[in-house]
Amino acid sequence: MPAEILDVVKEFLGRDHALFIEGKALRTAGPSNAVVDPATGQVIAHVREASSDEVDQAVASARRGFLRWANTSPADRGQKLHRLADLLEQHSEELAQIETLQSGKLIGLSRSFEVAQAAHFLRYYAGWATKITGQTMSPSIPSMNGERYSAFTLREPVGVVVGIVPWNFSTMIAIWKLASALVTGCSVIIKPSEFTPLTILRIAELAIAAGIPAGVLNVVNGTGSVGKALIEHPGTDKVSFTGSVPTGLAVGSTAMQAKLTRATLELGGKNSAGFLPDFDIYKAVDGVIEAGFLHSGQICAAAERFYVHRSQMAAVLEKLSAKLASLRIGSPLDENTQFGPVTNRPHQQKLARYFDMARSEGNEIVHGGRIIDGPGCYVEPTVILAASRDATLLKEETFGPVATFLPYDDEEELVSLMNDSPYGLSASIWTNDLSKAMRMIPQLQVGTLWVNMHTLLDPSVPFGGIKASGIGREFGSAFIDDYTEMKSVMMRY
Ligand code: NAD
Repeated sequence: MPAEILDVVKEFLGRDHALFIEGKALRTAGPSNAVVDPATGQVIAHVREASSDEVDQAVASARRGFLRWANTSPADRGQKLHRLADLLEQHSEELAQIETLQSGKLIGLSRSFEVAQAAHFLRYYAGWATKITGQTMSPSIPSMNGERYSAFTLREPVGVVVGIVPWNFSTMIAIWKLASALVTGCSVIIKPSEFTPLTILRIAELAIAAGIPAGVLNVVNGTGSVGKALIEHPGTDKVSFTGSVPTGLAVGSTAMQAKLTRATLELGGKNSAGFLPDFDIYKAVDGVIEAGFLHSGQICAAAERFYVHRSQMAAVLEKLSAKLASLRIGSPLDENTQFGPVTNRPHQQKLARYFDMARSEGNEIVHGGRIIDGPGCYVEPTVILAASRDATLLKEETFGPVATFLPYDDEEELVSLMNDSPYGLSASIWTNDLSKAMRMIPQLQVGTLWVNMHTLLDPSVPFGGIKASGIGREFGSAFIDDYTEMKSVMMRY
């Protein structure tokens, strides 16, 4: 049975949504974008796009917010983020339902990943508030008359951060951005994806209830041009972008040309998973599902290239196809559904083009390979056996439930195949042989490498890409460098 939509969710969806500036939801006259439930194809809400005047207003508010916030104590900032985490948990069902309605994410995933994990990440970041420090140095400048020197560094907030968010995890990724900004003393303007703008508007209200001052968290809606205007604006200091590689390249170049605006770029990739022959075939199939099919493959870290030893390929493909055929496809609001829609119509159509391309290039469609006709944006979970290592489906990110396989013969070839990509976000190796795993780890060119697991992130473990998958890191202590400037102070006494 689908979850019953809460009255607060119905009331929220019915509002005239636009922006959240200076602690308030603003009504505006901007053009209205429809938010569509990808499970049903029905319009569930309307959100107005910001004008350039409203972009100016948001930046002015964020600058005032920055002055207020940067002057609060670190402990105070940490407490307020903890309070926001409490409120996320108290409003968990409401936020999860809004998220599932706008993105088609399975309701269980919205509850556990989008909301519960977002609160978990927020608490982790909150803990950093009181632990951001500089260093002291002892300079070796020669002393002529007995004078001495001392030096230290300070970590100062970079200023007003523009957080640009994609549609796949619109709650959690927005929380990563606002938490990194707020804990370091920055203010933030979030620009959500035009496909999934709703949850962050509700979270901005909760932030005010948590005691975060007006102007510290603003939300500006619109398409890419609004994001570009925010990056170029003279009143913003940094962009933290998560999204596709082509948009990331445009964002990075806009940021550099605008005013050397600091940029963190968390981009996509074409992640790989390599299964060594010692690994149990049934577990390998579960591993492929974890790596490639969670949230219909719409996870930046998900694997799309799967390398299996030639001797095991037929058995893995057979067992995987049987398992995918048994998945219950249906409404994401139904707790029994195991496989939901993809998040929007253009994405469904992009996947249809990849299915056609896979056929025309002579690859074998082992399972699925079609969109599912109907008002919703469903596609079949798909398994493809590539004709060669040059198949387009081993090169380009589909960002969908499409696992492409290629056999290998030895470990040297496996490493070469896994590294055969201009991207380097993540990869996984699956083996019970510790010494083989340890030998492969330094050879694989990625920012995050999993052994016998894939996709799962933890706030204590830095995350980000190498090669064309991005610049900078989120989580751990690594994010601090990206959201603060280092000031060096030298003293003679
Ligand atoms: P996208 O690049 O199309 O859009 C991302 C955001 O950028 C949206 O808010 C969009 O409105 C905005 N945007 C578009 N053009 C812009 C411009 N010129 N200037 C400023 N902003 C602009 O990405 P998407 O389709 O929403 O998300 C899917 C992609 O995100 C996938 O490629 C996926 O791999 C990637 N992703 C990466 C990570 C990571 O952490 N590395 C996490 C999630 C998703």
